Amino acid sequence: RGRREGGWGGWYGRGGGWKVGVERAGENGWEDWKGLVDLCVCLVSSPARAEGNAVRLVGGSSGSEGRVEVFYNGAWGTVCDDSWNDLNARVVCQQLGFFGNSYATSGSQFGPGASTQPIWLDDMTCAGTEDYLSSCPNRGWGVHNCFHWEDAGVICRGKEIWGGEGRR
Ligand code: CA
Ligand code: CA
Repeated sequence: RGRREGGWGGWYGRGGGWKVGVERAGENGWEDWKGLVDLCVCLVSSPARAEGNAVRLVGGSSGSEGRVEVFYNGAWGTVCDDSWNDLNARVVCQQLGFFGNSYATSGSQFGPGASTQPIWLDDMTCAGTEDYLSSCPNRGWGVHNCFHWEDAGVICRGKEIWGGEGRR
């Protein structure tokens, strides 16, 4: 939890630095706003912000394709192509805001990750409906039997308009 400030002050979340003006001192008093503050704190600490959910595409000829990299434990790591398929790709693409078809690539088609990069995820078996790639069943962070030449990739179609690429 954070600490209260007066007036139109804010509420500092556990992570520090985050602030929102949800508190208003006045006739209704602090308690009436407490629920709203709790909601905001909840949103900040929700799984959507949890480490391990961030993905990016690297090495493609555009922003809609590339080697899949996941951020976990302070490092961008790759995903193994074992059992990698279009359902897994769909989760990655939808997470990145693409709404069209999704295609899996294997065998480090977009180049292998650096030798210093971890291979974070292996044997992914997404149903295709997960919000985040890291939610899909897998062996566990960093548990794998792979090499970087097996790095998984995706080709995504249908970028949202505000993504800057227009429809394709
Ligand atoms: Ca493989
Ligand atoms: Ca494997």
